[in-house]
Amino acid sequence: MFRLLTLCLAAMFVSLAFSAQAQVRTAFPAGRGLSVADFPRLVPIGKGVYAYEALRAPGFTTVSMIVVGAEGVLVADGQESLEATRALLAAIATVTDKPVRWMVVGSVHEDHTGGMEALPADTVLVVHPDGLSQIESGGRKVEKGPRAIGDVKSLDLGDRTVDILFLGRAHTASDLVVRVPDQKLVFMSEVFMNRVFPPMRSAFPKEWQDALQRALDLKADLYVPGHGFVDGPERSREEMRAFRTAITYIRSEARRLHDKWPDKAVADWGEYASWMLADSQGPIALQRLSTLGE
Ligand SMILES: [Zn+2]
Repeated sequence: MFRLLTLCLAAMFVSLAFSAQAQVRTAFPAGRGLSVADFPRLVPIGKGVYAYEALRAPGFTTVSMIVVGAEGVLVADGQESLEATRALLAAIATVTDKPVRWMVVGSVHEDHTGGMEALPADTVLVVHPDGLSQIESGGRKVEKGPRAIGDVKSLDLGDRTVDILFLGRAHTASDLVVRVPDQKLVFMSEVFMNRVFPPMRSAFPKEWQDALQRALDLKADLYVPGHGFVDGPERSREEMRAFRTAITYIRSEARRLHDKWPDKAVADWGEYASWMLADSQGPIALQRLSTLGE
C-alpha cells in the first residue's frame, strides 16, 4: 500500500513537473530546464518525421526537419557548419539507414546552409530561384539543373509526398516552407521563430504577416519553427499567431517612432522585450522598417 502510494505521489510529481514545464514559453533553453548538454536532439513529431534542434550562438536552437520516405530522406534546412551538419547526419543515421536524397533550403542564411557540403554529393537541392544567387554569392557553388530546382511544388519520397511552398516574401525574399500532408504538419523555416524577436535585416515585414496568415490558413495541426523550440500542436498554432502579432506590434512601434528616428527613437517593445534577440534585433527592425517605409 505504502509502495503504491509512493508510486502515485511520484507520478503526481512527474505530471506536475511536466505541466509546469508546459507553461514556459521561451526560446531560452535554460527557461525550459535544458542545458547545453541536452543538444543536439531529435524530436519525433510525426510518423517518420523528426525535428532536429541544435544549439548555436548566442544560445538558441536552429531547427532542421527530417522526413523519412521509402526512397530516401528529405532534410528541410541544414545547420551552420560542416561539423554541425555532420552531427545532423549522424542523428539521422540513428533512425534510418536510408540516404539523404533531398534538401529543401527554407532559408538561404548561413546558419541553415553553412554545412551543405557535408551532404551526399548527389543530394537534390530545392532552393527558391531568388535564393540561388544568395547562396552562390556566399562563395558556395550550387549546381544548376536537375540538382537545384527553383519552383518544385512537391517531392515524391516513394511512399509519401511532401509539398514545397512559397508563401510570399517574409524573413527573406526566398523563404520556402515544407508541408508533410500525411502528418498535417508544416516546417516553417525562418518564417516562424518561436519566441525569438523577428530578425528583420533582410525581411519584408508587411508581407511576412501575410505569409504567416497563409500558413495558418493551411490549417496544419503542427507548425515547426526554424529557430526556438518545437512545441505541441495546439501551442504551435498559438505561437504562430503570437509571432505574427509581434510583427504587427513592431511595425506599429516603428511607425510611432518614425518622426523621432533615429536620434530620439526609444522603442517600447512591451512583452517582446523578453523575447530572445530583442536587444540586438530591435534596432535592426527599426532601421529596416524606416528604410522600407512600412
Ligand atoms: Zn537563422
